[in-house]
Amino acid sequence: MKNYAYGFPRLGKCREFKKSIEDFWEGKINEKQLVSLLNAVEEERICFYKEYVDAFPLGEFTYYDNILDTALIFGVYNFKNFETYFNYARGKNTLELKKYFNTNYHYLVPSIENNFEFKLSWNKPLFYFKTFFSFKDDPVFLIGPYTFLRLSRLNEDFDKAFERLCAAYKKLLGELKNNHVHSIHLEEPAFCLDVTKKDIKSIVSNYKKMIPSGLNINLITYYESVDFLPHLYELPVSGIGLDFIAGEDNIDILKKNGFPKDKKLICGLVDGRNPLRSNIEEKVKFLELIKRVSKLSEENIIVSNSAPLFHLPVTLDNEENLDDNIKSKISFAKERLYEIKLITQFCEGKTKAARKWSSKVTSGLRNNIVKKDFDTLSLLPKNYTNRKKLQQKILNLPLFPTTTIGSFPQDKELRKVRFGFTRGNVSLHDYDNFIRAKIFNFIEKQEEIGLDILTHGEFERTDMVEFFAQRLKGFITTQNGWVISYGTRVYRPPIIYDEIKRERPLTLKETFYAQSIAPKPVKGIITGPITILAWSYNLRSSPLCMISFELAHALNEEVKNLAQNEIKIIQIDEPAIREFAPLKKRKKGFYFSWAVRSFNIASRLSPEVQIHTHLCYSEFSEIINWIKKMNFDVITIEAAREGAKITNSFKGVKFNRAIGPGVWDIHSKYPADDKVIRGVLDKSIKIFGPKNVWINPDCGLKTRKWEEVETSLRLMVKIAKIYRNKFKNRTI
Ligand code: GLN
Ligand code: ZN
Repeated sequence: MKNYAYGFPRLGKCREFKKSIEDFWEGKINEKQLVSLLNAVEEERICFYKEYVDAFPLGEFTYYDNILDTALIFGVYNFKNFETYFNYARGKNTLELKKYFNTNYHYLVPSIENNFEFKLSWNKPLFYFKTFFSFKDDPVFLIGPYTFLRLSRLNEDFDKAFERLCAAYKKLLGELKNNHVHSIHLEEPAFCLDVTKKDIKSIVSNYKKMIPSGLNINLITYYESVDFLPHLYELPVSGIGLDFIAGEDNIDILKKNGFPKDKKLICGLVDGRNPLRSNIEEKVKFLELIKRVSKLSEENIIVSNSAPLFHLPVTLDNEENLDDNIKSKISFAKERLYEIKLITQFCEGKTKAARKWSSKVTSGLRNNIVKKDFDTLSLLPKNYTNRKKLQQKILNLPLFPTTTIGSFPQDKELRKVRFGFTRGNVSLHDYDNFIRAKIFNFIEKQEEIGLDILTHGEFERTDMVEFFAQRLKGFITTQNGWVISYGTRVYRPPIIYDEIKRERPLTLKETFYAQSIAPKPVKGIITGPITILAWSYNLRSSPLCMISFELAHALNEEVKNLAQNEIKIIQIDEPAIREFAPLKKRKKGFYFSWAVRSFNIASRLSPEVQIHTHLCYSEFSEIINWIKKMNFDVITIEAAREGAKITNSFKGVKFNRAIGPGVWDIHSKYPADDKVIRGVLDKSIKIFGPKNVWINPDCGLKTRKWEEVETSLRLMVKIAKIYRNKFKNRTI
């Protein structure tokens, strides 16, 4: 039996990818040096593959993002040199970042003009094939046309653009074939979304035209099951890759439809997204099942990973501080390659190494949900009008209250002190004092600017999820478990491994201190259960919803503790609630029912305390009815970039609570703008009424410079005063 792997992380064992590119941006190295450094990273990546698997794609490497690269390949943008290249990511022409399906990886969103003629303008795959190939059968990596177009911004009819794009793919594939490429690794994760009948028709007809005869295509899908799988059987492809982890329905689809004898089935067996170590015997049993239902012979079955491996850190080898017992339950990317090899060996009768490898892993299967537990949790919204009255008596807020989303700029000095503290060079006492001084300083600043609701600034938090994971029981955090979030930005997902409990306060110390020195109310800020869950790995077999409820209860203890200590407003951030939703419509209802319940458990509190929530985006028409079931009094969302969007989402829904539409796009390079602020306010006042509108930036200010923050906040406060005057005597 053969094996195959794809998507191995490009970060490098010691984050060389990040360092080289950032050095280039800072002018420390030139283009030539950058290319040679990154080629070395790529060679190392290829070595990992070669050590463990029979085949893997060439050309998966990118200097920033593969969706951007696909846009460059087909002439949507121009690739002249690295300066123009990186300009799409961080310069003048920056493209919008969006989450890649329901993962934490962000891609750059290409914008396709109407009637755009796609043309082959950069043969990136051929370049990688020529530079790195060792066997002529090495498949060459490409993102598929359907996925590329579904992820792009498009204003015209999908069908027409798709046809033109496939014509350009045909040209590319032809050119690759003429240059002795034999196989293509074509990724179409968008086949796992809800695909309409019309789209299926056009996929089938265009794919048939697009693929030249004599070229082997491995069509790879991942992140879910393919509902229209039998239609793919008609395509002139030589292999189909299926995700048997997230795509739990794939096995039933196979049972029902079998699998064509003339194609290979690339079985995504080891998890590309979550590092729970594989139980090799269990995997082999599953493989037997696949063999039975597909009726395929051994040579047509290939063992592989379920999704690109870049969602995992490079290797466990870098983790020196992890407890051995926990370590033996984890696999990162390199270990996944080893598992793929173990599965193939096991099938050949070599079982010893496999048994040893999974001796500590009990099972990779999830337990069922205990329905009884689920039903007892209430989803009922509260009486918001009464709550508002009660809270207003305590808070005595003016019209258009001003506030921020929580964090204030984290500068070099802060990072240096924190680094010293984690290294043990700065004592806890000194670190605490440093953070206190920061809080003191920023409370004074906010007070002087004239904000109505203050925050402590979140200086003690590196990352809004890792911070909580380090303080809650049931999580571990890694030393070097970095994964790319976008471009060169990396983060370390914490790992849930045991029952989650709060054994000590999480945020109380800093929040309480801030309130004790502030003349105005300080808003307590915590990260919500869904966001913590979404941005963490998980080794437990309990159903996700149960883990989420556990987390919610732990956070609720914190919320109560804050309330007992004079905190009158608490914000629960849930930027991940939308992205964590399943890809298929039929699964969304169940997800949102437990996600909303989790939020409501976390926010359960006597009505005097005002609950805020922050969602990082502006577009949620599809999920607005679920958002309405969340128990909060004030919601802050992004609105500055495309002010009109909020109107769409809230059109026709009765929303009797307050909203803080972001008036300053903190992701842009510019400070807040008078016109934009007024535009957002005018629109929001029309929809929600002047008594229900807050004024705040789009998101946290952690990454901004203080100077821009100061001017922008002053402008916000100034305009708030003008609007208060304007609406003084009006009631709507
Ligand atoms: N409270 C967080 C901050 O201000 C919110 C960030 C987020 O939602 N992404 O940084
Ligand atoms: Zn945000």
